Amino acid sequence: MQDLIKKKPIYVPRPEHNLSRHNISQAALNVLYQLHKSGYQAFLVGGGVRDLLLGQIPKDFDIVTNALPEQIRKLFHSCRLIGRRFVLAHVRFNREIVEVATFRSAHIDGQSEGVVENGQIVRDNVYGSTVDDDAGRRDFTINAIYYNISDFSLLDYADGIKDLQFKVIRLIGNPVLRYQEDPVRMLRAARFAAKLGFTIEPETAEPIPKLANLLNNIPPARLFEEVLKLFLSGYAVESLKQLRKYGLFQQLFPQTAACLKNPIALKLIEQVMYDTDERIHNDKTVTPAFLLAALLWPPLLCELPDKPIKGVNLQEKLIETIQKLLARNSQQRVAIPRRITVPMQEIWLLQLRLTRQCKVKKKNLKLLEHPQFRAGYDFLLLRAKAGEKQTTEFADWWTDLLADGNIVTPPTTPKRLRRKKKQ
Ligand code: ATP
Ligand code: MG
Repeated sequence: MQDLIKKKPIYVPRPEHNLSRHNISQAALNVLYQLHKSGYQAFLVGGGVRDLLLGQIPKDFDIVTNALPEQIRKLFHSCRLIGRRFVLAHVRFNREIVEVATFRSAHIDGQSEGVVENGQIVRDNVYGSTVDDDAGRRDFTINAIYYNISDFSLLDYADGIKDLQFKVIRLIGNPVLRYQEDPVRMLRAARFAAKLGFTIEPETAEPIPKLANLLNNIPPARLFEEVLKLFLSGYAVESLKQLRKYGLFQQLFPQTAACLKNPIALKLIEQVMYDTDERIHNDKTVTPAFLLAALLWPPLLCELPDKPIKGVNLQEKLIETIQKLLARNSQQRVAIPRRITVPMQEIWLLQLRLTRQCKVKKKNLKLLEHPQFRAGYDFLLLRAKAGEKQTTEFADWWTDLLADGNIVTPPTTPKRLRRKKKQ
């Protein structure tokens, strides 16, 4: 195991940095103070510190401590221990959940069998006793800056503050080994570069295309979580660029990547990313089902016949193709859970109905009552914007229909009511 942190951290006392407690959430502060009052060390680390130093609003606050999970649980009523890869404590204050982790160590002794397989970390539950131990297992320099609640100082273990100033994403330690330990770090590099507008430093960037296929070894459920972070955090357009630049997109969605030479398919994917970012920046809701339906639409379309074939029921053919596509995708790469594949399929199936319905003129408006009508219609608009043939006239027809003052799309039944009905 490489010795990742070679020198003492840079100590930055409170008057010399701009991280103010006012910008830390009340819930995170409560946890930090409670741990400290109980005699434990407590630090804010990761994205919370990084984003605050950049003057941005963090997505969440990650806390580390020398208290063990059971000890953390005893301190907070609303604490749950969770985690498969590592045990973490989730402390809830009102609606906010604060993640608290016990210091871990990058150093693995001979007795920790099964922790590393072929260079990849499969379990990461070796507790460290000090914050120095913990720093060695962090991924990027900018993620290894600690804010100490005992004196409000910062500990910068890997010159992360300098990299923040120069807008650089740099792995701690030997990049090849660090990617082998956990290939998801390649996706994280792309994600942070996109989100922060930083450059991936050459030594950190160089091995990515060669090692991208290591993502094969990552459980598809974990890749799904990463995909959501990449595309639903407001930086999807830039994330897609980074992923394609480093050969990572084809590892996540190989069937879609193979279609991107087609300019219409590429436009559709870029457009959905653009629209998603716009919605997030305008505080509108976004649904993973819509985005994923778009991501897998090009390969679905490739496998469908261009024109109606005599004796082939297009709806049945579509359902069969969807099943095959989803099965292949989740076995090989990104496992999309059922709660998302169900609405995805509805959006896709609606495409047939939305491009047929118009022929019946305004007589049959039942489709407007379909719970996914709005998503299906938006999807049709997306296809039209991408320039897919035979979509514009249908999209315009529905747009005109909806513009007609008398027609209002019914609101979807609230989830709770729907569930009750089934019982
Ligand atoms: P954000 O929350 O904005 O996505 P983050 O950096 O806080 O960014 P998290 O996934 O919340 O990311 O992780 C918190 C911290 O845990 C990271 O900053 C990093 O120090 C460490 N970490 C997370 N994932 C890894 C990993 N795969 N390898 C090494 N360290 C990691
Ligand atoms: Mg975080």
